[in-house]
Order: sequence, then structure tokens, then C-alpha cells
Amino acid sequence: MSAKPITESGPSAREPEVDARFDAVVVGAGFAGMYMLHCLRGLGLSTRVYETGDDVGGTWYWNRYPGARCDVESMQYSYSFSEALDQEWSWKEKYAPQPEILDYARHVAERFDLRRDIRFETRVTAAVFDEASARWIVETDRGDRVSAQFCIMGVGCLSAPNRPRFEGMEDFRGPIYHTGEWPHEGVDFSGLRVGVIGTGSSAIQSIPIIARQAAELTVFQRTPNYSVPAWNAELDPQYVREIKAHYPELRAKARARPTGFYFPFNTESALDATPAERERQYEEAWARGGLPFLGSYVDLLFEKDANDTIAEFARNKIRAIVEDPETAELLCPDNVFGCKRLCVDTGYFETYNLPHVKLVDVSTKPVERFTEKGIVTGGREYEVDAIVCATGFAAMTGSFDRIDIVGRGGLTLKEKWHAGPRAYLGLASAGFPNMFMITGPGSPSVLASMIQAIEQHVDWIADCIGHLRACGARTIEPVVSDEDRWVEHVTDVSKVSLRSTCSSWYVGANIPGRPRVFMPYIGGFPVYVQKCNEVMLAGYRGFVIDGADRTRTANTPRIAFTERWHVPLDVEIISPAMIAEKRVPVV
Ligand code: NAP
Repeated sequence: MSAKPITESGPSAREPEVDARFDAVVVGAGFAGMYMLHCLRGLGLSTRVYETGDDVGGTWYWNRYPGARCDVESMQYSYSFSEALDQEWSWKEKYAPQPEILDYARHVAERFDLRRDIRFETRVTAAVFDEASARWIVETDRGDRVSAQFCIMGVGCLSAPNRPRFEGMEDFRGPIYHTGEWPHEGVDFSGLRVGVIGTGSSAIQSIPIIARQAAELTVFQRTPNYSVPAWNAELDPQYVREIKAHYPELRAKARARPTGFYFPFNTESALDATPAERERQYEEAWARGGLPFLGSYVDLLFEKDANDTIAEFARNKIRAIVEDPETAELLCPDNVFGCKRLCVDTGYFETYNLPHVKLVDVSTKPVERFTEKGIVTGGREYEVDAIVCATGFAAMTGSFDRIDIVGRGGLTLKEKWHAGPRAYLGLASAGFPNMFMITGPGSPSVLASMIQAIEQHVDWIADCIGHLRACGARTIEPVVSDEDRWVEHVTDVSKVSLRSTCSSWYVGANIPGRPRVFMPYIGGFPVYVQKCNEVMLAGYRGFVIDGADRTRTANTPRIAFTERWHVPLDVEIISPAMIAEKRVPVV
């Protein structure tokens, strides 16, 4: 739908001058922004989406490093809102590689004719709430200045690259790449000496592929990570047909899981099992591979003693794979298993058996500087022709920080979040009326299957906006005390899990100077969905709605949200009490 011409609907005299007026502006055309646009169209809203890249896909548009692929099985890593879409798209591999996921995003854009409302190659630089008109004034790096009643942030949880400033970077005479902003034309490392900084998921996926091309590969490791084999393979067409025949059932089962994706998990305690039983259980789970390995026992992320058993099993796997004992020990993490995001790999540890691959420990002697020829650490210069920074992202809040977001009374989001993000349900933040966040901090987001988390948020937001428009409301925003209680709850729940104990990007610890706050909601996807449903059914409890005509409010149907996202919290699944009693493998 196109913008309303200014002359026709006539901005109020109180509204600042703009180029175009919309009902909604959406920032980002990844999976969040795309589905948001689709839903807003369904409500009849004029919508403009801004996207920095020149195509849709978000994280899958930017992260084109060699070996990039999803760590959630492809049959579940897709939109669930359209049964027809589910049926017509066919994934080829157990874990889809980045190009295939990007193709899927493009297919969705075409199928639902999304591109006509997306302004590509345009970065939103500012979003300022104009109190007089109760509209957001949105500005871009291309000089657009538009207004909208609603501003929706689909900016991604892992989208703002973390680029540590190493001294002498500008002196290095070769190229420096970041995995999160990989050149679209690809990179040929053939015959080159390559240095990789970092050993997180991006590095662990790319290192085996880079090693195949490079003449020499030096990996600079600050903290080793646990990684479980993906055992990726082509999908059996019969398996695909079976899933497709029962897709809605699989989706429903997935939503009922703490992670928002389905895999069988064991509800027994690791500490109740004998060492031999544990060994068998871990071997079987290792043979299945991937993130479900963490579901081997119920208490792995609750009890340190239980966690020690899986951690030692994983370390022994590394020791068995890596031939050089010194390198093997360097690759063995000593922290809680699964505390940092678990990595899923194809041949990562095996790569260190190649004669041209070496591992350099920078845990006690950090990267000192770059030189013209390479990288200096521990007083020694390692000569390389190209450097890959696999140094991650300013997670959860970094993408918000890149935009000047100004709410009521000139309050900036950066100021409000200086001691950590504050958002009610991770959906909205007090003082920023009519601004919604898709998978914002305080929601399951990165601890759930992202597309499920996105869809649940978008459906909730769309339903809310439909409600606001039906009752003629001017603004909605969280009540400060409800927001405070939610933020406190997010922190409290995180303390139940061992996940809160290490220095991960979940707590902002990968970026110096950031406050240490556990940002995603770890209480499990179904519990969170139920909370969102309750809030909605109680007339948006915890939000203040301004200017609504109450007679119209009563008649407003709650679209399909609570039906679509009805997640029964029975024993088969999980309940808040089960979390408190540590009877669920909280993600
Ligand atoms: P990451 O997990 O944050 O890893 C960054 C790595 O860079 C860490 O090893 C970190 O060491 C290191 N590092 C950062 N600054 C450094 C410095 N100054 N000197 C030396 N080392 C430094 O980032 P990522 O690998 O891009 O992954 C981020 C997240 O994206 C993942 O956890 C996952 O959620 C998602 N992701 C998913 C997939 C997938 O679906 N398969 C793939 C890639 C990414 P420290 O640990 O010591 O900080």
C-alpha cells in the first residue's frame, strides 16, 4: 500500500513537515520486517519498510561467510503462518545453508509481493516521537523524512557487528573481513595465509571451509567453545513428505517446547543416572547431533554437577578427535557446557589435525596490534595475507543503538537503556509510545527458534494495532511499574539457569563497558506466549492506551492471536512451576 499523499489526508497543523505519511514504518526487511509488512497489509495499513541491504533476508543477507548455515533443522526453521507456503517450499538439507535460506526469504518476498513497500539500501538514522501529533518522525541516510503512527523495529538480535578496534588495523596491507558483513561476491582464500580471530559459531562454521582453501590458517582463540557435530545431510524426500503431511501438528508441538522448536528431550536427571548410563545417553545424543544434545538430561543447565558430566564428555570428544594433545587441551572449554550459545559444526575440531592449521591462544596474551604484515600477540608477529574477524555482534541492543530513537520528553532509548535494556515483554518500552520491538530484549528471541519467536511477536503486534485502530486509540505504551516487574522477572528467571553464570553475549559481556544484564527471556517459549495471551485478553494489561473510545473497544474482536498461539501448559509441556522446580531443560 502506498503512502498517503500529504495534501489528501492533510497532516494536522501540529505535525512537523514530512515527505510522506504512513500508518506504520517498519525498520528492517529480515524475517521480522517481512512478516510484519504482510500482517499490516492485512489490516489495511499503509506501511513503509526501510532496509539497509539491497534485498530481503536480514541476518541471512549479511552473514555470507563460508559455511554459514542454520543450527535449527530446516523443516522447522521457516514461517508457519501459511500452510500453502509450507507445502510449496522444499528444503534440501537437514540444516539449510545460508544461500538456501536467502532464497527462501526472496521466495516469500515474491510470493507475498512484499518488495513494493520496501525501500532498500536505506538505513534509518533517527526515529523521533512527536508528542503533539503522536506520530513517529523517521529519517534515513537517503534524506527521507516520513511520519507514521506506529514504528516497528525489526532490526534483528545479532545484526550490529562487533568490530574490536585493534591497534594498527589501518597498517595491515591485506583485506580484513567480518563474518557478519561478508562480501557478496565471496572471497577466494586459495594460496593465502589467513588469520581468523574468534572461535564462536561463525568461526566454527567457517574455519573448516577456509582451511580447505588457505595455504596456512592461524586461528586466534580467546575462549574455546563447545561444539556438537551437525551430521548434516541431504533430506530424504520421504521424510519431507511425511513432515509436510502433518506440518500443523509439528508446528504445534514446536510451540509447546521451551525452545520453540521440536526435539525429544529426556526428563530424567543426569545425577540420577550411573556413569555408564550417562555415557550411553550422551553417545546416543552425540550421534543425533546438534542443539538437541543439550536435552540429554533435564538438569544440565540447572545443576553444576550435572553439567560437569556433559562438559567432560564433550571435552573427551575433543581429545579423541584432535591428535596433538596440547592443541586438544587448548580447544577444551572449562566453563559450563551450553552456557555460551552451543555451536554446531561440521568437521571443526578435525580441522586442527591439518598440518597447515594452527591455534594460537590469546586468552592471557591478547591480540596486541595489527602490523603491515599480520597480527602480534605475546610479543610474536604472525604473518598473514588476510584477516577474518569472527568477533560476533553487539547482541540484542546493538541494532537499536545505531538509530537515534527519541521518545517522550526527549528521552533517548540509549539513555533509558544505559544500565541495560528495559522493555515490557520485550515488545515495547515505556516512554516510547506506539513503538514495538520484534524479538526485543526481555523476550525469548535468541533462546527460541527465531522465526517462531518472530511470528509470535508479529501476530501479537498486528493484533494489538488492529485493536488500537478499531477503538480509535491514539497511543499505547507500557506502564512503568509493569515494565519494571517484567525486567526484574527476566533477571530472576535467568538466575535459575547456569546460563547466567558465564561471560557470554547473552549478558553483553562480549562488549567492553556494557552492563551485565541477561537480555533474553529464559523462562521458555510457551510460558512467555501464555503471558502475552493473558496480557492481551485482559485488555492489554500493563499497557496504557490513550484516546480509545471505550464503546468501540468492547466490540473489538481479538483477531486470531490467542487462537493461533494457544499453547496449553500441561505437564507434557512446561509450566512456570516446573521451571522453578528445575524440572524442564530451560533453554
Ligand atoms: P560470538 O559467539 O560472539 O563469537 C565471537 C568470537 O570472537 C568469540 O570467540 C570471542 O571470544 C572472539 N573475540 C571477540 N573479540 C575478540 C578480541 N578482541 N580478541 C580475540 N577474540 C575476540 O560471535 P559469532 O560466532 O558471530 O556468533 C554469535 C551468535 O550468532 C551465535 O552465538 C549464534 O547465536 C548466532 N550464529 C548462529 C549460527 C548458526 O545458526 N549456526 C551461526 C553463526 C552465528 P570470547 O568468547 O573470549 O569473547
